Amino acid sequence: MKIFKFGGASVNSAEAVRNAGSIIRREWQQELVVVFSAMGKTTNMLEEVVNAAWHKTGNTDLCISKVQQYHAQIINDLFPAHHIVHHLLEGFLLNLSVVAGNPSFGYDEFYDRVVSFGELISTAILSLWLDEQGLSNILLPAPSLLKTDNHFRGAAILWPQTCERIQTHVRTVLADNPGHFILTQGFIGSTTDGRPTTLGREGSDFTAAVLAYCLDAQEVIVWKDVDGLLNADPVYFDTTQLIPALSYRETIELAYYGAKILHPKTIKPLRNKNIPLRIRSFFHPELPGSVIHASEQSDTLIPFFILKKEQLLLSFSTRDFSFINEEKLKILFGVFSDQNIRINLMQNSAISFTVCINHPQHKLSTLLEVLGEDFEIRYNEGLELLTIRHFESVDLQTYVTGCRILLEQRSRRTLQIAYQRTCQ
Ligand code: ASP
Ligand code: MG
Repeated sequence: MKIFKFGGASVNSAEAVRNAGSIIRREWQQELVVVFSAMGKTTNMLEEVVNAAWHKTGNTDLCISKVQQYHAQIINDLFPAHHIVHHLLEGFLLNLSVVAGNPSFGYDEFYDRVVSFGELISTAILSLWLDEQGLSNILLPAPSLLKTDNHFRGAAILWPQTCERIQTHVRTVLADNPGHFILTQGFIGSTTDGRPTTLGREGSDFTAAVLAYCLDAQEVIVWKDVDGLLNADPVYFDTTQLIPALSYRETIELAYYGAKILHPKTIKPLRNKNIPLRIRSFFHPELPGSVIHASEQSDTLIPFFILKKEQLLLSFSTRDFSFINEEKLKILFGVFSDQNIRINLMQNSAISFTVCINHPQHKLSTLLEVLGEDFEIRYNEGLELLTIRHFESVDLQTYVTGCRILLEQRSRRTLQIAYQRTCQ
């Protein structure tokens, strides 16, 4: 059994869909489950729908029509004019309008209900198209396989229920349908009482790992627009190096710091069953790509660069000069946890505590309000956070000359700097 995962970029146009089809044709040799994300930037478009409907930041219908136009363009190229797929898309968009037109349930749950349409639409289209190309497949809805708790926008897998469902459904369907592979959605699941959930942005990698774990897969292959695992994001860094192999341990650290290799939750299930994951290029499927596996022998000391933009540095000081003790930290962490805020970097002094976080957008005012009574709060917006793993040989000046450094931290292997880019 193998698990393939195709992200949004690998199915962002009709041409890309054809390419994904040719990869499946080329590589499908044994039992196979294929996980697809939403097409291209659909999830971002759906976030705009959420914000328009919930925060009234725009016209919801207009935002939905962008989603419609984007998919219509792809299906017009892939299918004939009177194909059933056009009605299918219409149906999804009608449902989306109904869901978006009724902003309730709380923001996070509403968000999950809306954004999960991205994966539902992409897989409906892909399943039909692949089938017509002779790539016979059965579409199994991920919300009926992946059972989660109700932490909307970052739901946790309920492992026993999920594994039981995956094993039963996938095995039965494959046994009953020889010559077919299984196709499903990444990123989405549902609670035991059927409420739609998502696993966190870019969570499709994690879906692939969950399936691999429950099915004892031999290998996971993540098809990407790079030749394999790179030591820096080519969008931000001029020179990058391909890393042919890396251990689970090193990968989980890099993913945690924000490297866009994989969703950070992906590694644990794979590591627990010793299932290797390959990152391969959907442009050059003939290349071997990179493997992430248990062995630490091949781990390199080549520096890795991870850049996070849109960072917010928040400093909390006590108003009465009392220490930032464990009681105070408990208050702060309680609020971060309630608000689903992840800390990228933190530091404390006698009377202040500083965190660097992804800008929480509309949640900032809630934070200021909830914590403003106990603490004096200062913040800087628009920062970058650069993390360098194996930084010893790196000339830092190349990266931050002229920048205003606001926070810097070094551990044995890792250097992190939060700064304002005043230099360019
Ligand atoms: N479509 C979702 C996102 O863009 C999940 C994924 O791509 O992994 O975040
Ligand atoms: Mg994506």
